[in-house]
Amino acid sequence: MADVLVLGGGFGGLAAVHELRRLLPADDTVTVIASRDTFFVGFAKLWELSGVRPLADGTRSLSALERHGIRFVQADITAIDAAARRAETSAGTFTVDAMVIALGAGYQPKHTAMLGAHAHNLYDATALPGIKADLDALTTGTLLVSILGAPYLCPPAPFEAALLLDEWLRANGRRDQVDVVVSTPQPLTLPVAGPDASRFLAERLTERDVTVLTEHPLESIDHGAGVARFSDDRTREFGLMLGVPAAAPPPVVAASDVAAESGWITPDRQTFATRAERVYAVGDCTMVPTATAQLPKAGVFAEAEGRIAAANLAAELHGGDRVAFDGNGYCFLELPGHRVAKVVGNFYAEPKPDVRLTPPDEAAFAAKQRWEQERLAAWLG
Ligand SMILES: Cc1cc2nc3c(=O)[nH]c(=O)nc-3n(C[C@H](O)[C@H](O)[C@H](O)COP(=O)(O)OP(=O)(O)OC[C@H]3O[C@@H](n4cnc5c(N)ncnc54)[C@H](O)[C@@H]3O)c2cc1C
Repeated sequence: MADVLVLGGGFGGLAAVHELRRLLPADDTVTVIASRDTFFVGFAKLWELSGVRPLADGTRSLSALERHGIRFVQADITAIDAAARRAETSAGTFTVDAMVIALGAGYQPKHTAMLGAHAHNLYDATALPGIKADLDALTTGTLLVSILGAPYLCPPAPFEAALLLDEWLRANGRRDQVDVVVSTPQPLTLPVAGPDASRFLAERLTERDVTVLTEHPLESIDHGAGVARFSDDRTREFGLMLGVPAAAPPPVVAASDVAAESGWITPDRQTFATRAERVYAVGDCTMVPTATAQLPKAGVFAEAEGRIAAANLAAELHGGDRVAFDGNGYCFLELPGHRVAKVVGNFYAEPKPDVRLTPPDEAAFAAKQRWEQERLAAWLG
């Protein structure tokens, strides 16, 4: 009998616990620990903001895991000793036979420290009420969506936010009075997807009169005046700013004995094993190299990695086939008019990721909706 512990109940953790439960004998225990007792997909926040659907409708409770034979403990994880397969938490110490670390990513503190007043963190669900209040009040001026650093979660999401809010402003008869601007410190809109996809996205933004500022690292914000100051003394006034901080490893991960010097965990990119025996790491808390950069921090990849880590862990404990991640995956790119394109391909290809963009259509939007519903039902139904 083995006790298996999964740290984190997001995309990677939920995929891992279900695969473990499916593969392990019934007398092995599977436990997941997470600080939040709910799950929703990241893009549901943008749907709430742009009036597509309330976030609550896409939120499920992790307590539903008990129905699947998976124990859920809501607690803060305060220390990880991977060599000893031990986690210290606000609900006590857990020492187990095998572990999967799936704790997601936090935000660069220097970026979150810049935000405040009418400059919000676009990715923080708790900021949604403040963003919505400021959106309601925004009748003239500029809506600035600003990427503050890289890597950040879900590379297309800030641009999707600009496009979905452009649509919302048009529907509310305000777009003639409100400029929409999106800034990024990077030279392209979507470097991870290559120049063609980046050009496609820049054209979609431009045709909606969204101004795209590339190579614009934000240096400071004057909250009183509502001015964003970029490098080389370039400035933009804004009435509402939605900032996207760069991702940072969670402090408990960075302080653990499996983190690299960067603070991220760098597991084997095929099996997701770490250097600690019977300890795996998946999802946004990892840094997985590709030929040109890193795997995007996206739920699609965290889920695939969670399944693969679980299968390899089950094989380590009880025998069976090992599996390897081949680098195939995709990112959704949501456009106005309920249309979705996909950046799809092999992100491990050499000498550069072999990815292409599928043309946007409404069928892909419906597929994205189904994608969410299938996961909510299978994991937390
Ligand atoms: C606006 C937005 C749109 C997005 N759109 C997409 C999309 O279209 N497609 C896509 O693939 N991805 C998308 N993403 C990205 C996606 O949400 C993340 O990449 C994904 O959630 C990563 O999964 P994860 O399991 O690694 O981490 P998470 O899902 O973040 O889960 C981390 C878990 O760890 C827990 N945790 C963290 N620290 C502690 C601690 N100290 N103690 C206890 N528990 C802890 C958390 O409570 C949570 O349960 C989007 C993200 C955002 C913000």
